[in-house]
Amino acid sequence: MKDHNCIFCKIANGDIPSRTICENEKFRVILDNGPATEGHALVLPKEHFADLFEIPADWAADAMKTAQAAAELLKEKLGADGLNIVQNNGEAAGQTVRHFHMHIIPRYNGDGQNILWKPGHPSDAELDETCKKILR
Ligand code: 5GP
Ligand code: ZN
Repeated sequence: MKDHNCIFCKIANGDIPSRTICENEKFRVILDNGPATEGHALVLPKEHFADLFEIPADWAADAMKTAQAAAELLKEKLGADGLNIVQNNGEAAGQTVRHFHMHIIPRYNGDGQNILWKPGHPSDAELDETCKKILR
């Protein structure tokens, strides 16, 4: 299903033009218009799913396969030294467009970006408690 009010539905289905770098039956991969680095791309499903909690498992698996193909293309053509895949779900996690997407971010030595997080320092007891909460 498509959502007629969703900009990524329109882009993914070609109703709004985009800088497409690769495409298959289920996904379009476009350049992000506010890139973290040169070649920052977005994997967009052509059907509307708000986030990881809505996208069916077979689509999620195909999203990763598409991301891998896009990553290989970006590495080869732009000479990336590394690459981050980021996928935000919900406002708390920084998701601004409620149509599932994966960020493919090529990294270059010395690019000055900071996509990694600030590590916490929980005690062993706190980590054990978290683990218990998840397992029970
Ligand atoms: P989020 O924060 O939801 O994970 O990421 C949304 C991303 O979509 C941002 O990186 C933003 O730059 C990008 N974006 C938002 N609107 C458009 C658009 O109309 N075209 C393109 N190419 N990228 C967009
Ligand atoms: Zn959509």
